[in-house]
Amino acid sequence: MVEFVNCNEHGKNEGCMICQHLVAQKDLCYAKLLVDPHDDDFETAMCEACETLLLDEQEWSDKLNDFAEWKLFCRKCYERILQYHKLVAEGGM
Ligand SMILES: [Zn+2]
Ligand SMILES: [Zn+2]
Repeated sequence: MVEFVNCNEHGKNEGCMICQHLVAQKDLCYAKLLVDPHDDDFETAMCEACETLLLDEQEWSDKLNDFAEWKLFCRKCYERILQYHKLVAEGGM
């Protein structure tokens, strides 16, 4: 199941999550994952630091949530943010 968000700019749209680092910075390397933290599938983009932590934790832990401070965006806003970064890995978990 895909969660929808209501974007002020783009209307009702598929929800995607981005870690706070990708939102605040530019020119980072990131990985794209499909995850379901609450039984809803979110396409998720995370920077290398978040990905490293995820691999260390081996699960979607509170520690990761605290570190990443996931931001929910509509797909169009998500893609707009990601164009400033470099995709290095893609997969599911
Ligand atoms: Zn991050
Ligand atoms: Zn939007």
